[in-house]
Amino acid sequence: MLSVNNIEVVYDEVILVLRGVSLEVPQGKIVTLLGPNGAGKSTTLKAISGLLKTEDGKVTRGDINFMGQQIANGNPEDIVRSGLFQVMEGRRIIEDMTCVENLRLGAYTRKDKGVKDDIDMVFEYFPRLRERTGLAGYLSGGEQQMLAIGRSLMARPKMILLDEPSMGLSPLLVKEVFGIIEKINRDQGITMLIVEQNANFALKVADYGYIMESGKVVLDGTSDELLNNEDVKEFYLGGG
Ligand code: ATP
Repeated sequence: MLSVNNIEVVYDEVILVLRGVSLEVPQGKIVTLLGPNGAGKSTTLKAISGLLKTEDGKVTRGDINFMGQQIANGNPEDIVRSGLFQVMEGRRIIEDMTCVENLRLGAYTRKDKGVKDDIDMVFEYFPRLRERTGLAGYLSGGEQQMLAIGRSLMARPKMILLDEPSMGLSPLLVKEVFGIIEKINRDQGITMLIVEQNANFALKVADYGYIMESGKVVLDGTSDELLNNEDVKEFYLGGG
């Protein structure tokens, strides 16, 4: 469904951050991208969603193919319309709007009348959001993360990119959020690429994983292969 082929990314015309990254995300699967701070995981997601442009970044080599279309250096809005949606790191919900208003925003690319039903569908996945009728700025970190994921569903995406969904959440909430992510994937067949520092949780829900270091993929395999790999155990699973 998504194939990233040997991409190189440069910021501000000179700073080379990705040095030939390739990865595949088959339809309906969950793939995770792991690695230390600064490895280039977020940059890889932004290259796919087109958001690199907003930070003066550019794909300078290689290509990105989403459902048969070349999208490298494409317009982010066109990429959303083609069914690929990025849930931003840090959640980026609109704090002075309610949950329902935030969810409606997620549907801005749609013209059909199913928006109200989809808001109900999001509340079914995240029941606690239904009870929060005040401004989104007052939601807890976990609830904001849930709202950000819910908002992405409102665009009826074929694939979503998630940037560190566990960030800032308690272990209990991380478990809950990953459980819901897995359920959404199973129920709706939405393909997912998840960037995570929390390798334990990510590999439990993912089918396949890639590990990045210093702008390159250094290892990839099925989740079981990675969970049993001695280096992965030592460097990525130890603390979790
Ligand atoms: P983290 O988990 O900290 O977000 P990451 O693996 O997602 O790490 P990136 O955020 O992709 O890594 O950053 C990779 C490298 O690119 C880092 O060295 C970072 O300093 C650099 N970088 C990121 N964004 C920019 C930017 N807008 N301009 C210049 N350099 C950047």
